Amino acid sequence: MSFLETSLSELRQKLKNRSLRAVDLVKTALGQVQRVEPQVKGVLHILEERALAQAAQIDAALDRGEVLSPFAGIPIAIKDNLCLTGTKTTCASKILENFVAPYTATAVQNVLDAGLIPVVKTNMDEFAMGSSNENSAFFTTQNPWDLTRVPGGSSGGSAAVVAAGEVPLSLGSDTGGSIRQPAAFCGIVGVKPTYGRVSRYGLVAFASSLDQIGPFARTVEDAALLMNVICGHDAKDSTSATVGKEDFTATLNHPISGLRIGVPKELFGDSIAPEIREAVSKALDFFKANGASWSWTTMSSFEAAVSTYYILAPAEASANLARFDGVRYGYRHADSANLKEMFMKSRGEGFGPEVKRRILLGTYVLSSGYYDAYYVRAQKIRQWIRHDFAQVFNEFDVILTPTTPNVAFKFGENAGDPVKMYLEDIATIPVNLAGVPGMSLPCGFSNGLPIGMQLIGKSFDEATLFRLGHFYQQHTDFHTQVPAWLKKGA
Ligand code: GLN
Repeated sequence: MSFLETSLSELRQKLKNRSLRAVDLVKTALGQVQRVEPQVKGVLHILEERALAQAAQIDAALDRGEVLSPFAGIPIAIKDNLCLTGTKTTCASKILENFVAPYTATAVQNVLDAGLIPVVKTNMDEFAMGSSNENSAFFTTQNPWDLTRVPGGSSGGSAAVVAAGEVPLSLGSDTGGSIRQPAAFCGIVGVKPTYGRVSRYGLVAFASSLDQIGPFARTVEDAALLMNVICGHDAKDSTSATVGKEDFTATLNHPISGLRIGVPKELFGDSIAPEIREAVSKALDFFKANGASWSWTTMSSFEAAVSTYYILAPAEASANLARFDGVRYGYRHADSANLKEMFMKSRGEGFGPEVKRRILLGTYVLSSGYYDAYYVRAQKIRQWIRHDFAQVFNEFDVILTPTTPNVAFKFGENAGDPVKMYLEDIATIPVNLAGVPGMSLPCGFSNGLPIGMQLIGKSFDEATLFRLGHFYQQHTDFHTQVPAWLKKGA
C-alpha cells in the first residue's frame, strides 16, 4: 500500500470495511518515513508512540462497532509551528529546540477530533520566515522531484512529506505564500484559507494579521475534505471569523460554466518564466473550452505588494517574537552577569540570521522616527491592495495567476540575495495582504519540475476555488505524477 497510489477516498473506504486498520496506515506512514527521510529530510519529530496508541484506540472503537468520523485512522503531518500537547514545537528554531507544547492548537485539535493521526512534525523555515526551507536551524528539506533543489518554504517539510508519500495529508501555515509556494514546487495542492476561516490559536505567531493555517493534499478534493475538518469559528482566537463550518465538498461537482476568471497582466510579464506562463495559459484555454470565461485585468497595486509585506510582516514579527526572551520558556543562555546580558545572549544565540534580519527591520519601521514614513504608509498601501481585489471581484468570480515566477530553485541559488528570495512570493503575498483565499494546484512541468497555478477567490468563497480546481483535476493528470525514484518498485 502506498499513499502515492491510493486516494484518500479509497483509504477511507478500506478503513470502513475493515480491510485496512488504522494501525496498518500508521505503520505504512512510518515505513515510508524510514525509507525516504534520508533523502527528503522533511521531518523534525516522529510521533511513533503517540500515533500507534491513537491508531490502536481507533481500531478498538471500530471493532466495537462504533461509528467514527470518516477520517478516523488517516495519518497526517503537522508543521512544527503548530502546538500539540506533550510534543515538541520548535518552529525549526534553536530558541525553541526543547519546547514541549503545553496545549494543542485548535486546528490540530479539530484534526484529532476527526480521528486523523498526527505521525510527524515537519521541518520549516525558522519561525516560518523564508521561501526555501534553507532557514531551518536544523537541516534543509529537499524537493522530492529533484533532491538538489529546495521544496519551497516556509512549509517545505509539510509539502515534501506529502509529495514523497510519507502521509496523505498535512497542515502548514501561510503568511505570504508558505503553503501555496511549496505546494507548487512539490507538485501538490495547497490552500491558504480566507483570513479568519481557520483558528490561529496554537499557531506560533509570525505576522498575526496575515497568518493562516491550511491544508496540503495531492488532490483538490482531499484538500477540501481537510478544510472541512479545520475550519470554523473559535472563541479562543479573537480574529476568528464568526462563520460556521462549511462542507466544501458539497459544490465540488457543480458545473464551472459561466464562471468568470480574471488574469492580472501584472503577473504575466517577463518576471514569470516562459514555461510557467505557457502552462498557465493552457489551463486558461482549458477552462474556456469548458464553459468558463477569462479575460485580462489589471491590479496596479501588486507592484507594491512585496515591499508592503516586508514592512508589515517584520513589524508584526518584531512584536510577536519579543516574547522569546529566555525568561518564560525557550532557550536561556546559561551564565549571564545580568538580566540585559541574559536577554541579549539568549536571543543572540537562539535566533538565526533571517529571523534577526526581520526583527531589526520590524523594530526599525516601528520606531518613532520612521513609523509614519514606513509602517503607516504600508498600511495605506495594504488598503489599496484590498480595494484592487474588491474592484476585480466585482467583475470576476476567480483570479488566476501562476503561483510562483520560477520552478523550484537549487540550494544556495537565492540564499545570498534576500530581495531575490523575497520576490519569489510576488504572486502569493497580495492574497495574504487582502485576506482572501488562495489555492495552488499542479498545472504542468518544466524539465521534470512541477509548475503550480494559483486560484484566488472572494473572501469566504473557497468553495468556488475547490470547484474549479476539482474540475481541472478530473480532466488532467499533473496531480497524479510521482517522482521516478518514488514509484513502486523503483
Ligand atoms: N516567504 C515569505 C516570508 O519569508 C512568506 C512566508 C510565509 O508565508 N510564512 O515571509
